[in-house]
Amino acid sequence: MNIQPNVSLLALNTLAVPSRAQYLAQVESLDELKEAAAFASQSNLEMKVLGGGSNVVLPEYVSGLVLRYMSTEYQVINEDDEHVVLRVGAGFNWHDLVMKTLSEGFFGLQNLAFIPGLVGAAPVQNIGAYGVEVKEFIQTVHGVIFEDGEVFALKNEECHFDYRESIFKHELNNRALITAVDFRLNKQPNINVDYAPLDKMAQERGVPSPLELAHWVIDVRSSKLPIPSELPNAGSFFKNPIINESVFADLIKRYPSMPHYHQSVGVKVPAGWLIDQMGFKGKTFGPVSVHKKQALVLVNKGGTGKDVLAASEQIKLAVYNQYGIELEQEPRVFT
Ligand SMILES: Cc1cc2nc3c(=O)[nH]c(=O)nc-3n(C[C@H](O)[C@H](O)[C@H](O)COP(=O)(O)OP(=O)(O)OC[C@H]3O[C@@H](n4cnc5c(N)ncnc54)[C@H](O)[C@@H]3O)c2cc1C
Repeated sequence: MNIQPNVSLLALNTLAVPSRAQYLAQVESLDELKEAAAFASQSNLEMKVLGGGSNVVLPEYVSGLVLRYMSTEYQVINEDDEHVVLRVGAGFNWHDLVMKTLSEGFFGLQNLAFIPGLVGAAPVQNIGAYGVEVKEFIQTVHGVIFEDGEVFALKNEECHFDYRESIFKHELNNRALITAVDFRLNKQPNINVDYAPLDKMAQERGVPSPLELAHWVIDVRSSKLPIPSELPNAGSFFKNPIINESVFADLIKRYPSMPHYHQSVGVKVPAGWLIDQMGFKGKTFGPVSVHKKQALVLVNKGGTGKDVLAASEQIKLAVYNQYGIELEQEPRVFT
């Protein structure tokens, strides 16, 4: 394990904002993590966790010790005729995991193909796409608490998963590092084409195999979302707001064409639609612009984290002034 001082994080965040870490340590085991934690404690450094950097806004200088847990462990820890339980290290690339499980005949993750990032971050915001959330397949999340080095294994229900939410954004925010995740996958193909574009494809082409479905998802995503290496971005920059019924009743009178999805509590409104209605597609805010095809995506052309956050604030304010809805940012802001 090596701990490096003053390291550029430019290539380690998909928004490509210039940023330097006071120290960076890439560790691959619990023993290495202990060594890094001892160094942080002796030097009085705060520890911060970075994965693939695809859902963060970094400042120009990140004080403390930035940790990346790069274990790519992959093992079957339990199986029966219908299910398999895999333990996967936090450093495993997410999309590679999806494709590997499919090639081995383990099904479930296909709708989540092509999401950037590493396995360790997947539980943090309960990644989701095309009608599926990862919480449906997580059995246990393993990790370490920073304060006392205690190792934990949180069962699914203890992770408090919700839409883009988990305990790791609340009680355990900045307090824990996820080292591995146990996934319970199916041995029988389970196809979910509830999401409208996939349903349409299934009607035209017939029910896909899980691997075919992953490729459909890859194709749809590639046609809609900019590739960070070409146009630096962090995916959807805003969560879809869930508004209460009385606010909704008022808004739908004023905006009858507003798309909406009733939830168990409240009504979800697509943030992209709200931003698009403001005429913001393609609009620039200094070096940051709203993607011309996808209003939820902010593209950074040489700006800093501050520039990205300033653009985000202007968009939030405009949406609030028009609709009275407060947008919440999806990427995590490092301090
Ligand atoms: C083009 C594009 C498309 C995207 N599409 C989607 C999508 O469809 N659905 C979706 O849900 N997300 C999407 N995202 C967001 C992002 O890919 C996911 O949130 C992903 O899980 C982030 O992984 P990461 O390893 O890059 O995490 P990072 O960005 O490095 O970190 C994100 C957060 O997780 C924390 N974290 C990371 N690793 C660990 C760990 N091991 N232990 C504890 N905390 C940790 C970090 O401290 C930070 O708070 C997209 C992003 C991009 C750029």
